[in-house]
Amino acid sequence: MNKKQKNNLYRIIISAVLLTGLHFVPVKGVLRFLLYLIPYFIIGYDVLRKAFKGIKNRQPMDESLLMCVATVGAMTLAIYRDLTGQTGDYVEAIAVMLFYQIGEWFQSVAVGRSRRNISELMDIRPDYANIETDGKIEQVDPDEVEPGIVIYVHPGEKIPIDGTVSAGTSTLDTAALTGESLPRNVTEGDEVISGCINLTSPLYIRTTREFGDSTVSKILDLVENASSRKSKSEDFITKFARVYTPAVVYSALALAILPPVFRMICGAAPYWGDFIYRALAFLVISCPCALVVSIPLSFFAGIGGASHAGVLIKGSNYMETLSEVDTVVFDKTGTLTRGSFEVDAVHHSPVDEAQLIEAVALAEAASTHPISLSLRRAYGKELDRSRVSDIEEIAGQGIRARVDGRDIAVGNTKLMSAVGADYIECPNDMGTVIHVALEGVYAGHIVISDTIKPHSAEAVKALKNLGIKRTIMLTGDASRIADSVAAELGLDEVHSELLPSDKVDRVDRLITERSGKGRLAFVGDGINDAPVLSRADIGIAMGAMGSDAAIEAADVVLMDDDPLKISRAIAIARKCLRIVKENIVFAIGIKLLCLLLSALGLAGMWLAVFADVGVMVLCVLNAIRALIIRK
Ligand code: ADP
Ligand code: MG
Repeated sequence: MNKKQKNNLYRIIISAVLLTGLHFVPVKGVLRFLLYLIPYFIIGYDVLRKAFKGIKNRQPMDESLLMCVATVGAMTLAIYRDLTGQTGDYVEAIAVMLFYQIGEWFQSVAVGRSRRNISELMDIRPDYANIETDGKIEQVDPDEVEPGIVIYVHPGEKIPIDGTVSAGTSTLDTAALTGESLPRNVTEGDEVISGCINLTSPLYIRTTREFGDSTVSKILDLVENASSRKSKSEDFITKFARVYTPAVVYSALALAILPPVFRMICGAAPYWGDFIYRALAFLVISCPCALVVSIPLSFFAGIGGASHAGVLIKGSNYMETLSEVDTVVFDKTGTLTRGSFEVDAVHHSPVDEAQLIEAVALAEAASTHPISLSLRRAYGKELDRSRVSDIEEIAGQGIRARVDGRDIAVGNTKLMSAVGADYIECPNDMGTVIHVALEGVYAGHIVISDTIKPHSAEAVKALKNLGIKRTIMLTGDASRIADSVAAELGLDEVHSELLPSDKVDRVDRLITERSGKGRLAFVGDGINDAPVLSRADIGIAMGAMGSDAAIEAADVVLMDDDPLKISRAIAIARKCLRIVKENIVFAIGIKLLCLLLSALGLAGMWLAVFADVGVMVLCVLNAIRALIIRK
């Protein structure tokens, strides 16, 4: 509890005690009124001040104003009754204010607590980095560490900055980032990301990024900014409140004036006091606080819970879209397959195998494509980059470059046609075929094969179980290999030999031809598919291996590249939206019921205020459920 919350708690207790005490003080008339004013001001001064400010600044009507009109009205009614010889009820107006404040207090404590819970869940922000100077370990601010510097991480500490292990072997706990409880072994040369906890032995890590660009900083930014992207449900509530409050105020006015006037016309007693009272109760009930508080809180909790499971959702609007997905489109390489190719065979090469691979690896020196990384790995030796020049990467086709002064083209059949090389098709269907041409003359092909990720088939099945209607794979690879992957995974459709721009067109077409309100999600690793990620209704990127561009362009990031997380993310989003809808229906339903009862004179202010606070407490508790994610 912070200081303000404590103060408010004292105000609540003091005014409650005073209110009870005054019940036993036998005074009458004006003195009685003045005595009751004391607890009223203690509990309500800030609400009165806020309402007054609102009127002065001509702001639209808000709940402080509703509370003031209702309680001041009830007080006036009580004075009038006192003056006309009946006994006025001052307690009611004060009690209304008191319960309103109890509600506000509960809400601020609950919201504060769940926010803290979420940041604890996201307890990945490192406070320092260790640097070894002259044999001594020194702690420095991670912001000050430049890329390329070696940092030291004790067992039990968080890795503060992304980098590669330069010495040591250890086990990492990645649960805070990926939600995966299985520890990961790392050794010299392995890439490690910040936010993981080093478990067993000390590690020296050469940083590859600045702290601000490291994984932890990015995640924290995303989660902190997520609430600024509003969902339709939140917009709905803001608009709703704008129409609703004036509507309620005018209805209350009508309720106070019309029935008595009507009765007077008919010659009956008007019962002014009765109807004014009903109108005031009506005002108290109408406060929309439960909705206003619980809906953003549900989204916030949902985003927090998802990030704990290794799924970063960049805003409540994406949470909403994700819950409506019925078509999932996948990229192949790096998304459903590992994107880590092995060289299986070299065919039709006029030079010897090792020479061809050397030339190819040199041509691939600058690419980040998984194929390129794999070919360089197959070569295995340090590359002499001075031998390569004029590198040109053609997305979805391959590479052209000059190696040792000779023109070389490495890529698929499209590229071979482009350079005019007479290629030979490879009859096997074991893997991706990379053709090579030297000075425009065909120089054979390298067959490389990729393995399907261990969870890909299960991931497709899990999506089907969630009721996803279509699963589609788009790839730039040859149709033979694409078809065999699609068959193995049980995908509904596959489209192959696409250029990156063809993928955008396909997704466009799928979006325009869809029927109903189902949304389309595209899942990719961002290597030349960032445009598709932004075009889809919702773009899901593989975070660990994915490029920075993908993480920027995507709306949802899967921290550990596991395709099984796609169905997880959808399930989490659906649960969150279900909670939001429950709260909307419940809160509005109870409100309408109470409004009706009060208009009929069946519910007084007491019931009104109980209903209001009760509904809010239940809605807030329900919202917090979104934070709980089943493993
Ligand atoms: P995917 O759709 O499977 O992610 P891409 O669109 O990235 O595939 O690439 C399509 C095809 O283009 C690859 O299968 C490969 O034949 C060729 N290609 C792309 N980049 C390269 C590269 N750097 N080196 C060689 N071939 C490449
Ligand atoms: Mg790709």
